[in-house]
This record gives sequence, structure tokens and C-alpha cells, in this order.
Amino acid sequence: MLNTESSIRFIKGVGEKRAELFYSLGISDVDSLIHFYPRKYEDWTNTKTVAEVNDGDNITIKATMITPVKEHMIRRGMTLYKCRFSDGESIINVTIFNNQYLAKALRIYEDYVLFGKIEKSFTTASMSSPKIEKLDTGIRIHPIYPASGKLTSNAIAKVIKTALDNLDTIPETLSEDIRKKYDLISLDSAIRQIHFPKCEKDAYDARRRLIFEELLTLQLGLLKLKSNKKSETPLKIINDYTARFTTLLPYQLTGAQQKAIEQCIKDMQGRYPMNRLLQGDVGSGKTAVAAGIIFTVIKNGYQSALMAPTEILAAQHFEGLSKMLKGTGINIQLLTGSTKAKEKREIKAQLIDGKIDLLIGTHAIIQNDVEFKNLGLVITDEQHRFGVKQRASLANKGHAIHTLVMSATPIPRTLGLILYGDLDISILDELPPGRQEIRTDVVDSRYNQRLYKFIRDAVDRGEQCYIICPMVEDSEELLNVKSAEQLAEELAQTAFKGYNLGLLHGKMKPKEKESVMKAFSNGDVQILVATTVVEVGVDVPNATIMVIENAERFGLSQLHQLRGRIGRGNKKSFCVLVSDSESENARNRLMIMKKYSDGFRIADEDLKARGPGDFFGERQHGLPALKIADMLEDIETLHLTQDCARDILKEDFNLDLQKNKHLCDSITKMFRNIEY
Ligand code: ADP
Ligand code: MG
Repeated sequence: MLNTESSIRFIKGVGEKRAELFYSLGISDVDSLIHFYPRKYEDWTNTKTVAEVNDGDNITIKATMITPVKEHMIRRGMTLYKCRFSDGESIINVTIFNNQYLAKALRIYEDYVLFGKIEKSFTTASMSSPKIEKLDTGIRIHPIYPASGKLTSNAIAKVIKTALDNLDTIPETLSEDIRKKYDLISLDSAIRQIHFPKCEKDAYDARRRLIFEELLTLQLGLLKLKSNKKSETPLKIINDYTARFTTLLPYQLTGAQQKAIEQCIKDMQGRYPMNRLLQGDVGSGKTAVAAGIIFTVIKNGYQSALMAPTEILAAQHFEGLSKMLKGTGINIQLLTGSTKAKEKREIKAQLIDGKIDLLIGTHAIIQNDVEFKNLGLVITDEQHRFGVKQRASLANKGHAIHTLVMSATPIPRTLGLILYGDLDISILDELPPGRQEIRTDVVDSRYNQRLYKFIRDAVDRGEQCYIICPMVEDSEELLNVKSAEQLAEELAQTAFKGYNLGLLHGKMKPKEKESVMKAFSNGDVQILVATTVVEVGVDVPNATIMVIENAERFGLSQLHQLRGRIGRGNKKSFCVLVSDSESENARNRLMIMKKYSDGFRIADEDLKARGPGDFFGERQHGLPALKIADMLEDIETLHLTQDCARDILKEDFNLDLQKNKHLCDSITKMFRNIEY
């Protein structure tokens, strides 16, 4: 007998090789296996005869095999197997491609079910590579799993079936009260039905229960994280130094920036720690807002920390803020994963001493051994790149310190309210003046030569250019898509011979990345060929052209972030989306980029074009990945679970009660797995 903690190796039919395949899907024990849900189902229960269906229909047919399998080797690596079936009246010619395993298993005069598309002409009926199962087991609703290469959906289904057959009742995780109140079936039934539903209603009930539990766990986790911060703060931010701060800037703050700074300072002068989200489209000037409140906090005698998602961005903030706050006597240091050990030690010592006023860095600055003397404020930039857990761990560094998270990811409003709960929100809805509209064009690679000339002309005028390539992981994809390395190499020999080309991609060492970025930022590198590592926050105002290769492979919000890297100075900027995709859908999506420049608008259109699953599939929100729920489609359940979570915490805030024990474990599990 198995239990949920058993390793998958204990399941019959799972040997070492197969176990490896499961590991790569993140499945190691029975528990993770049974929570690996089907993506969809195929209903094989509605059987038809050939006479009843039309050419091109997708059908299920009961049929007997009436001729033995004939093998035809077409060429190396391509074998066809042909045989005939009869449904009692009509004959069906079946062709199977390459599936030796299936072909060998078929027995003449046995009864089968065939599932697939039928081709029918006046005289014949045929099916090409139908799915085939024995009649006695085949007529049911088949789960379809997200298969991966060698591990087919069928194989996954078999292993799950074996596991469930050898598993006692799965322990219940929701209390009786909740199940009654929200009319939810037991976990045991839900798990068995989600994999092997007997009818549509089975699957529906199972999904409903599992989605509810997942969203409830999410809500409870978030609510708990937030309420941890509700204690009063001993910090005293008395004076507002914004007026003095503005004299340091080479420009005037926009009205929106001013208002955001005011809101933050008002928060910090209150009894409770600030807990605020600053949302602003790319280029809206969030950094200046951050600098403004950091200035006031430091002048009131407290340290501040600014955390960025990448080393490049941290380094850039370090330079920008050092320049901005020059001559004020404020001591700023940079701490990242690649800071040398000796330097790190010094920085840490100075932090405890209180000699450093502002520490800028990556998540290296939230490691346990980094201690501050009197930390007052923590700002995280581009917050969607950080997990909730990291946010929380940072907030624990000080005693009820003030926190501000800055985000450029437009999230539909209703969702924002739920995800960020009782966070206060400031919005920068105004761009700094003098910004030029970026001109965006969609072209195919036939325009390459013209495009390169256009770039050379701009570079000759002293401007700079980004060329972005998608990240390619699969070797198969390499055939159609050029990697940044390949393209840089090629262009250096051809179109941009004699120009200074830089290359930036994710696999480079942080130090290398930093030096390339520096060279681009001071103009030594004229054309930067890069992957999306430049997506977040990089600021080089002299860059006026952004070319995005294979643009169809990017999400619109991502394209928008990328495009935000140009149009930062006062020169006319151009974004060129290169795509050879023939799909109309892809083309329409790219045209949205041409049409709109507002991030929120683009996010909405993106949502419409792609559907919510994909939108949130990118994990842009810094929340745990969800297995079954969809935050947009299941918004009503999300609301229900929000109420339910509040009720639970009201009665049992620490989740100490026996009936809440399982929920408590699930929260730990869900939030443990988020890492970025
Ligand atoms: P983001 O919100 O994307 O982080 P940044 O803070 O990087 O935007 O600012 C984008 C650019 O706008 C920077 O070059 C910055 O110096 C400039 N900037 C910010 N605020 C103003 C302003 N009020 N007036 C003019 N330029 C500004
Ligand atoms: Mg920024």
C-alpha cells in the first residue's frame, strides 16, 4: 500500500529512468503526483458508427480489428503501420505513424475503441494515427496531461491510476465547516475525480473543490503576511526634506511624482509602518520618487535599503543615486552577489555601525547575515520579480520598518486589490514632460538591410541601439530562431562591421554583464545585442532604436517593458518589431504595440488576445505558481475564498486549531516554493 509521502519509485511500473522523467516535472512523491492535474479531457463515451458521422469529424468508434498489421518502412526513422477495422457495417483503414509499441500490441479479431478524426469519402473511411485502446477499458473520459517529450500523457495517466488504486483514502485538508458552507466534495473524491471523472459533473465538482482550496491557501498566506506588519512603528520621521531634495534634481518633479512622495511621507509620519505600492508605467520616473523618500528618511536619521531584481539594475541605481545625492554627505554602498568577500565584510561592518546610509543591492541584501543599525525604509524596485517571501523577509529586517514596492507591471484593478490587499497604492499616471512618442513598426526580415542602414545612420549621428533576441532553450527551436550570440557574431562581420557591438545575455557572469552594460551606458558600445535581461529598468537615454527579433515570441507586456528602454531622452525614438510569423493572431498582437503606448491599455488588450491563463502564466506577479486556479477566470471563487480566509483568521489567527492544521501546512508548502 502507498501513502502520499511514498516516493514515486514505489509505484509499480516506475523504474529509475521513468522516475527521472517525473522528477523533471517536479514530481517526486505520490503527493506531488496526484496533484499533477490533467490539462483537459477527451470524452470517449459518446461512441458512433461510421455511418453516423461526417468527413472530418472527431469521433469515438467501437471496432474490431480485421486484418493483421502491415509494416511499411518509408525511410529511416519513418515507419507506417496499416490495418483494417470494422464497426460491424463499415470498414475503416487505419494508419499508424512510427508507433511500434502500439502496432505490436494490436491483436486481430479483438475489440477496440478508436478515437480521432475520420476521413470519409463515398467508398472508404480512414483514420490516421487515431488513439486506440481495448474496448473494455477505453470507453471513458480520458485525462490529458501536459506531457513532456518522453513522458506521454498516457504514461502519466497509467502511473497515476496505479498510484490511486493503491492509495487509501487521501487525508482531508479542509474542515467540515468549510466544506459544508461552500458545498465542496472531499479531497479524496476530488483527487480521484479530477484524474478519472465518470462524467462531466465529476470533473466540475473536483475542479471546484481544488480551485477553492488553492485560492483559499493563497489568500490565507497573503493575509497572514500582511497582518504581520500591522504593529505600531517606533520610527520617527518628523521632518519632510522634499523641498531640499528637489533642489538636487536637474528637472522638476511631475505632479504625480510630487503627490506620490507626499503620500509616502505622510504614511511614514503615522503610527503604523508604511506599506505602499507605487505603480507607474515604464519611464514614469519611479526612481526619483524612491530617491525623494530615501532622502527624507536618511535626513531623519535612519538607514534605507533599495533592492533591485538584477545586478545590472542595482548597479545602475547605485550610479544614478550616487550622482543625484552627490554633495549631500549621504554614504551609499552597493552590495550584490558578486561583491568581493572582503568588501562585503567591510560593508556589513559599516552597516551595523550605521556609517552607511543607503544600501543598494540585489536580494543579497536580505540574507540573514546582513544587519543594519537602524533601518527605517526598504524599497523594492520592479517588485514583480521578487517573490512574496522575499518581500516579507526584507520587512523582517527592521522593527516594523516602512516598505515601498515599485512596480511597472500593469495589473487589472480588481486583481490588484486582491493581490495587494491592504497595501496602499500610489500611481504615477503622468510621464515626465518632453517625452517623445515612440514610433513603433512591425516588419518582416525582408526589411533587414534597410533596417541596418537605418541603425547605422542613427549610430553615425551618435545615438545608440538595442537589438533584442528571444531566449532560446530548446535545441529544436534554434533552427528557426537566432540566439543573441549568433546574431551578434553575424552582424559584427556584416552589417555593423567597424562598429562597436556589445553582447549581453543571461548566461554571462554578473561582472561581464556589468561591464558590457557600463560600456553601453557610457557610449563605448554603440549597438547592444541582448536577450531580455535588459527588460527591467535599464536607463540609457541616448539609446533611440530598439529592434526586437522574433517579436511574436514575446508577450505584449514584455514588449512594452522592452520598448520602455528607449524614448528616455529628448530624441525621436523608434521601436521595430521584426517577425516572420505568418499567423494572423501573432500579427494582430504586434499591431497592438503599434497602436498603443499605455501599459495598462496594452495589458488589457494582451489579456483579450491571449486569455488569462497565459497572462498570468508568466508569473509576473511574484506570487506562488498556481496549479489549477486561474486568478482571472476564477475571480468569483477568489472573492469567496477571501471571505472564507478572513473568517478563518478571525477565529484562529495562528491556525493552531486542529481543524486548520492542514491548511497551515499547505500555506507553508505553497509559499515555500516561490523563489525567484
Ligand atoms: P521608471 O519609472 O521606468 O523606473 P525612471 O525612474 O528610470 O523610470 O525614469 C525614467 C527617466 O526619466 C530617467 O532618465 C529620469 O532621469 C527621467 N525623469 C524622471 N523624472 C523626471 C521629471 N520629473 N522630469 C524629467 N525627467 C524625469
Ligand atoms: Mg525603474
